Amino acid sequence: MNKVFLSKSSYCKCLQCPKIFWLKKYKPEMAIQKASHSLFENGKKVGIHAQDIFGKEHDDIEYCNNYSIMVNKTKEFLEKKPNIITEATFNYNNNFCMVDILKNDEDGLEIYEVKSSTSVNSIYYDDASFQYYVLSGLGLNVKKVGIVYINNQYVRQKELDLDELFNIEDITSTVIEKQDEIRKNVEKINNFMREHDENNEPVIDIGNHCSKPYECDFWEYCTKDLKTGSTPEQEDIIDKESIKKLVSSLNYPLYFIDYETYMTPIPEIEGTRPYQQLPFQYSLHIIKEEGAPLEHKEFLAQADDDNFIRHFAESMTDVLSEEGSVIVYNKSFESSNVNKKLALMFPDLKDKIERINNNMVDFMIPFQQKKYYTKEMKGSHSIKKVLPALYPDLTYDNLSGVKEGMEASEAFLNLKNKPTEEMEESRKELLEYCKLDTYALVKIYEKFKEVLEE
Ligand code: SF4
Repeated sequence: MNKVFLSKSSYCKCLQCPKIFWLKKYKPEMAIQKASHSLFENGKKVGIHAQDIFGKEHDDIEYCNNYSIMVNKTKEFLEKKPNIITEATFNYNNNFCMVDILKNDEDGLEIYEVKSSTSVNSIYYDDASFQYYVLSGLGLNVKKVGIVYINNQYVRQKELDLDELFNIEDITSTVIEKQDEIRKNVEKINNFMREHDENNEPVIDIGNHCSKPYECDFWEYCTKDLKTGSTPEQEDIIDKESIKKLVSSLNYPLYFIDYETYMTPIPEIEGTRPYQQLPFQYSLHIIKEEGAPLEHKEFLAQADDDNFIRHFAESMTDVLSEEGSVIVYNKSFESSNVNKKLALMFPDLKDKIERINNNMVDFMIPFQQKKYYTKEMKGSHSIKKVLPALYPDLTYDNLSGVKEGMEASEAFLNLKNKPTEEMEESRKELLEYCKLDTYALVKIYEKFKEVLEE
């Protein structure tokens, strides 16, 4: 009986849920991929930098649809040891893998699997063990298996230091221990696919495995027939005491602020760490005193400004110069993920930034703690759900361009590549989006006051 063609990523998906593999084979059009373009590009960059830890010289197997060409090219490169082969490709009994980095020494091989994450997830062991299974099955001597991942404590200096940027964990012994398990799993997967041909779709209930370790691309497909609202609906709640406490803690001027940021695994700017949230935009609504008209200020970095983080920090500390309440939605983001890092980068602004953090008030709390809840929020405390629940006419769906944070990051990163007119249009959309975020905070404040007057 022919064995199914099983790649290492399919093997890992089968461990999550074998139905993913079946759907990929027979109903691939049902997948909804959420991975963004920048995520993919970032992954590629991490891979390229990781290769360079092993030296600039390597033999690269170029990707092509005919895998046997890649397998044959790998055989050729394996002859000329010692060398480093990237994307070395192997097929053992239809179990197929491409090794990110293969160190081909005189006395054996070293496999390195590159990950863009900042820690070693248990699924990586399965991934690497499958590669070991394939190579050792072909009679090759694998002497070491390592996971190359990002060191999030690294702070970039002028030049990128690859040895500091990456950690390498030696997982050889775990991989060897797992070999028996891999053999059994491969057999199980083959049996599963034999039992479920094209006309016999497997029945597997949805559950925790649908999002762990990865969000499944077939979630919409598998949940399409489930009735919505099958869980008991929570009653509307407005806990006036909690809201009163929050509102009376506010001091004028009221600053309603929101940041937009992006992050990359490879720090491109001196003084920043991998995955640091880099702020490029804020919107600020101000109410100076009781009854004063609403004012608006904003900042959006120039796409070609290498010093945009500094300019953001200067502008933000400048506009928040007075001792008023700084109202945000999800305080840990603005305060810890961004401001604390800015204070480390710019010690001269540290005092101002700390003062801003001390004055921060989080409007998300009453919604998160269900002190204020209406059915229209649909169980969510995201501002994208809360705002239209409180004001049906105010919805992010009415925005013409950017509608959520990830889109804002991508739009900013793409500004550079756009002709002037398109760039201006994109900037307008970014400003509009961020402005709605802080206008939402103002409206929430009005709603709080309204319910307290009732
Ligand atoms: S949504 Fe869940 S049940 Fe459906 S294929 Fe994905 S992991 Fe399996």
